[in-house]
Amino acid sequence: MSIFNNKMSVVADSPVHSSSSDDFIAFLDAELDASSPNLSPDDEAENQDDLESVRIKRRKFESIEETKGSTSEGIIERNLEASTEVDACTHPGSFGNMCIRCGQKLDGEAGVTFGYIHKGLRLHDEEISRLRNTDMKSLLCRKKLYLVLDLDHTLLNSTHLADLSSEESYLLNQTDSLGDVSKGSLFKLEHMHMMTKLRPFVRPFLKEASEMFEMYIYTMGDRPYALEMAKLLDPQGKYFNAKVISRDDGTQQRQKGLDVVLGQESAVLILDDTEHAWMKHKDNLILMERYHFFASSCRQFGFNCKSLAELKSDEDESDGALAKILKVLKQVHCIFFDKHQEDLVDRDVRQVLSSVRSEVLSGCVIVFSRIFHGALPSLQKMAEQMGATCLTEINSSVTHVVGTDAGTEKSRWAVKENKFLVHPRWIEAANYFWQKQPEENFIIKKKQ
Ligand SMILES: [Mg+2]
Ligand SMILES: [Zn+2]
Repeated sequence: MSIFNNKMSVVADSPVHSSSSDDFIAFLDAELDASSPNLSPDDEAENQDDLESVRIKRRKFESIEETKGSTSEGIIERNLEASTEVDACTHPGSFGNMCIRCGQKLDGEAGVTFGYIHKGLRLHDEEISRLRNTDMKSLLCRKKLYLVLDLDHTLLNSTHLADLSSEESYLLNQTDSLGDVSKGSLFKLEHMHMMTKLRPFVRPFLKEASEMFEMYIYTMGDRPYALEMAKLLDPQGKYFNAKVISRDDGTQQRQKGLDVVLGQESAVLILDDTEHAWMKHKDNLILMERYHFFASSCRQFGFNCKSLAELKSDEDESDGALAKILKVLKQVHCIFFDKHQEDLVDRDVRQVLSSVRSEVLSGCVIVFSRIFHGALPSLQKMAEQMGATCLTEINSSVTHVVGTDAGTEKSRWAVKENKFLVHPRWIEAANYFWQKQPEENFIIKKKQ
């Protein structure tokens, strides 16, 4: 009878939905289902029953909260609540302007929309933080954190069929079957006029990451695209289930935000190739090296080189970006749950991430030589975040001179003093792979 039944059945039929976020989604569905305002006046009696069951549920929840909460604030709140009408609804969220619990018509734009969980669903701030707290506790018990994954250039690369270059047209005969997508990595999506290549190692990556993280997809693509890609990456729906966020779900233009993720910021890691999409959450971000399989993608980013597809090549399966980042994730996860640390709830994954990062170039003392000064501040910041010391003048403690020209005074000094002389990409590569890279791969030559 409920307008939410469709959604209910999706959750119920899903073979695996043991995660707490999914449990929450199921709970929410049940809640929505039970308390959904009935639009038909004939069903008043039934509606009353629904409301009663919601009240019981609510009391049950409050009593759980009470046993947990001992702050004076909580006590004041409860007293206030007790002194007002017993059944006064706090309106935890709304659906089509009606409270999801009591059905009262609400106006105003308080809270955040969670359209990806259910179209038209809006949750109010207190409810969001209550859900985050509850979810967090159960998550930590299961030794899990949250992982938010970007799609394009992070997990896969897509192109319009019309944008395939002539050298790439051979791919049209090499696409994998959409029947069992788990066996393939190159797919033609005829109805979307697109071709998608999954990044090498993505399947083992998702499998292993799912043991440490509750995973979300978060893309700037639109919803139909996001769902289509989720089907390719997770055909059985065991990793993401409903946790697929698209640009239609964001609260800010051209920005991604953790406000639509039901996880606490102190427990969320983000993998994305676009840093500026996450202005407010840079400390949660692991920046990915972009995966460009198709020529259209290279062109879009201004690269005047052949695409991997044109070269009939690809990223390394066992030593590519995803394999390397999986190691970082394991390390961060391991440190976060180290049992010798202080109380679990006080830990912050952002601190763990920054301390792991600060080991990458520790011990390196860097001087930059004639770097285009637009690029200098970000390179310097990058190096310092990885634990390097940056100096403006050479002295005997310097270990690396970073530049693009071997003929400068500092470069010649480096050669004479047997210091490393490397290209700035040495820093960028360390930043992508969270590991100091062999200097000999980044040697610079004298300009003619
Ligand atoms: Mg991207
Ligand atoms: Zn209400």
